[in-house]
Amino acid sequence: MRLFGHVDRDPDGLGMTGQRARDRLVERLRAEGIRELRVLDVMRRVPRHLFIDEGLESRAYEDTALPIGSGQTISQPYIVARMTEALLEHGTPGRVLEIGTGSGYQAAVLAPLVPKVYSIERIHRLLREARMRLRKLGAANVKARHDDGRLGWPEEAPFDAIIVTAAGERIEPALLDQLGPGGVLVAPVGPPNVQRLVRVRRTPTGDVTEDLGPVSFVPLLGGLA
Ligand code: SAH
Repeated sequence: MRLFGHVDRDPDGLGMTGQRARDRLVERLRAEGIRELRVLDVMRRVPRHLFIDEGLESRAYEDTALPIGSGQTISQPYIVARMTEALLEHGTPGRVLEIGTGSGYQAAVLAPLVPKVYSIERIHRLLREARMRLRKLGAANVKARHDDGRLGWPEEAPFDAIIVTAAGERIEPALLDQLGPGGVLVAPVGPPNVQRLVRVRRTPTGDVTEDLGPVSFVPLLGGLA
């Protein structure tokens, strides 16, 4: 696993974007109930301030979603931690599909934890910027593609885990088709203000669906931009 710290613009940990700010965020995530040590450790290392616009850098380690342009947001750190934890809880998945690359932050958090991450984004500008960040950070096991993620990535299926980071009215059937045996899918489902985070686990006796609580995501949209 490669450490991400070497590109930190504030390596001494002073100021709003250094190691101390990340440590404080992780303490907060722990206090809010995140238990998985691998997730906390990765979030201590991935420099979230490199995934948002420079004007908002000083807010990077607040536990809040922030705008990334094109009407989209980088997810709240607690939600990134919770979804990542939910994916890892029943064993480490080998191949993970992410729908909604956005800033690339969630993919960067997954990259040190699993062998391979496939990520799909429908907005080309966001995809291009996310790819650049991931390359700079040395996350070489992330493959990202410009496409409508509702269709999944059939050429690379089946996946051991699928994480959807934009909310649909339902769990896309194509994504369930691409979930392998023993696989786990985590997705926000429902209209704005009443979305729930849902986990589907594919067990030998059938799919088990759990409600992991209320969330607030940007919508899963069709078509490319
Ligand atoms: N995981 C991202 C969160 C970004 S917000 C991060 O860590 O920053 C959700 C993203 O999903 C947005 O970038 C949005 O453009 C994208 N999205 C919405 N509908 C999509 C679709 N059908 N296919 C692929 N990406 C989609």
